[in-house]
Amino acid sequence: MFELDQDRNSQVLLSKFLSGEIKTLEPVYDSQGGYRYPLIEEILGDASQVNSFLSKLFDAGILEKTLFDKVIICPKCNSTNISFRYCCPFCKSFDIQKSSLVEHVKCGYMDLEKNFRQGDKYVCPKCHEEMRKIDVDYRKAGVWCTCINCSKSFDIPVSEHFCRNCNATSTFEEASIKEVYSYTLSKDVKADSLQSLFLITPIQEFFVKEGFTVMSPASLKGKSGAKHSFDIIAHKGDVDNPQGMIVVDLATSTGDVVSEQPVIALFAKVFDVSPEKAYLIAIPKLNENGKRMAELYNIHTIEVENPKEATNALKESLKK
Ligand SMILES: [Zn+2]
Ligand SMILES: [Zn+2]
Ligand SMILES: [Zn+2]
Repeated sequence: MFELDQDRNSQVLLSKFLSGEIKTLEPVYDSQGGYRYPLIEEILGDASQVNSFLSKLFDAGILEKTLFDKVIICPKCNSTNISFRYCCPFCKSFDIQKSSLVEHVKCGYMDLEKNFRQGDKYVCPKCHEEMRKIDVDYRKAGVWCTCINCSKSFDIPVSEHFCRNCNATSTFEEASIKEVYSYTLSKDVKADSLQSLFLITPIQEFFVKEGFTVMSPASLKGKSGAKHSFDIIAHKGDVDNPQGMIVVDLATSTGDVVSEQPVIALFAKVFDVSPEKAYLIAIPKLNENGKRMAELYNIHTIEVENPKEATNALKESLKK
């Protein structure tokens, strides 16, 4: 398993996805560096690590990728600052003139568009009739190219790449082509595992630092005899005689705000278990109804977008 919780940079990127700051990570093109991901460069502080960072997250199933573009790479200098040229299939010159073939519908005469033009009118050079309406009087019958260099005509040009960096030309056979992707947060990354990757570990570490014994996930037996599970349980004292029991549940929203549902679920468990404190950590926000109910039920709520906010808020709250 990819040690995501150990990786601060991944957490920073994840928090940006989770907070909605980014929905899709798209590459940005610049003629010097080709396609880049400035946001990732900023997070990593090292542009050379961007591709391995993204493929690590993709391999771990955290990110999904979608083909965004393909870049042609110059075989001489590896630049992706390439222009695409259409060339004459006979002499390979890129100095070709592209024009339309036009057909006069009535008499069937076909010629290059320019040969129909008389001032601002379209007139058939064969029968001298004026043509007014496209698809009625005349129609476009395809494309016709003429080579300025060798004067030959053809309908399908051949391609060539021109490197704007080193001025070398290359053919389709010579050039290599590389995929460029945009990234989104994987749908398969379930809210639960995301929570644990993203928040549970830092919160556990926080409680341990504060001198608590931590279990996660964990369950407690209530007064009713039923067992209730919580994302995190922290207590002081030893396991047989726990003191100052704290229970924590995390709730992630698929939309913008977490509904009151996890507040109700937590309340039912808290009612039976009677811990000293109960926390609901909502990512990123809890709806108003949920906040009101939590206050009524004496459940502490924390709205967070990243682990730092969660541990800071817990620290504040424990002081009280
Ligand atoms: Zn080049
Ligand atoms: Zn030619
Ligand atoms: Zn005609």
